[in-house]
Amino acid sequence: MMNHSGSKRRYHVVCRECRLERLFNIVDDADSLEREHVLETGHRVAVERIC
Ligand SMILES: [Zn+2]
Repeated sequence: MMNHSGSKRRYHVVCRECRLERLFNIVDDADSLEREHVLETGHRVAVERIC
């Protein structure tokens, strides 16, 4: 059994309507960038979890 100790999880924030693209280790950071960008621009932003 493989148990991942230490979070290797990454969160990839990608805007579908401009070139914004960033990688985070912390979901809260990814979320706040997403929310900020949506508020500022009205763009649609996807957050993908990469394990
Ligand atoms: Zn955008």
